[in-house]
Amino acid sequence: MPLGEFELIDRYFRELGAARSDVRLGVGDDGALLEVPPDRQLVAAIDTLVEGIHFPHDSPAASVGHRALAVNLSDVAAMGAEPAWALLALTLPLAEERWLAEFSRGFGSLARRFRVALVGGDTTRGPRCVTVQILGSVERGTALRRSGAAPGDAVLVSGTPGDATAGLALEQARLEVADAVVDRELRARFLYPTPRVALGRRLRDYATACIDVSDGLLADAGKLARASGCGVALDYDQLPVSAALVQAVGAARARELALTGGDDYELLFCVPPARLAALLRDLPPAEWLYQRIGALRAQHGAIVERGGSVIDFSHLGFDHFAERG
Ligand code: ADP
Ligand code: MG
Repeated sequence: MPLGEFELIDRYFRELGAARSDVRLGVGDDGALLEVPPDRQLVAAIDTLVEGIHFPHDSPAASVGHRALAVNLSDVAAMGAEPAWALLALTLPLAEERWLAEFSRGFGSLARRFRVALVGGDTTRGPRCVTVQILGSVERGTALRRSGAAPGDAVLVSGTPGDATAGLALEQARLEVADAVVDRELRARFLYPTPRVALGRRLRDYATACIDVSDGLLADAGKLARASGCGVALDYDQLPVSAALVQAVGAARARELALTGGDDYELLFCVPPARLAALLRDLPPAEWLYQRIGALRAQHGAIVERGGSVIDFSHLGFDHFAERG
């Protein structure tokens, strides 16, 4: 017997995620009632994942649940905010119990890890599509933005961008890797990204601007620079690439993917020279996993330099795997 809408919500989405005392009323009524602390500002973000566009058709349901929340947590992280509540609009062709159980497990475990309560949503029939709205808060006046940085500020990035796009290529059989450990590691970077919430919170004391890297390092660095009214120069030799990515695609393509791949959900942020020493002292890079990769400059545009000359990345956005068929 097919699962009814109410049973489905009851079984998979009631009390999913963390139990929070600031949720006066969660799933089950016409709306959620949430207590916003008076000294904080509400932060809201929303993202949609469409099957076949933002995740492959045969993606593990647990990954879809994880990513739908993770991409939103990443936006909250980039604001320096603390996530609290999520709403989930789920469109499914059928109420497939196995898929739902796995989806809800993936969503729920990430939600508990980041103390997020699922407080409402909507369930409809149609082509598979997941929208999550996240709500969180930040101490009044302290949120990070894309704007606010200035020429001369150092540009830094967390993690090892490029892995996720290789992981997606592996999932779609556009790339093959002989080493099973490398294969698993790269796939996991696409399927189960880790939003950098703790780093974003700490960066409020040092960073002048911040953005999460979802569309590719160079493109997102360009967005931050534009919002801050300047340009950016990244140093090719400083790009952090993982050993796994280098093993999978070689050193040169690893850097190309680090610059142009997407789905990383790392943080790119700017720190003025005067605050850089304090950042490096208080948040040791080896522990917090970030690296300096360039600087903002007055001249508009986003460029990549190597040994003083500019590298041409005009093929930006090209499909790097299909290209080599
Ligand atoms: P309404 O018709 O008033 O919008 P619904 O019947 O759609 O209410 O939903 C009933 C309750 O279940 C509401 O509290 C709603 O927020 C919640 N809900 C529906 N779908 C989901 C979902 N996929 N995840 C979490 N909560 C959901
Ligand atoms: Mg409804």
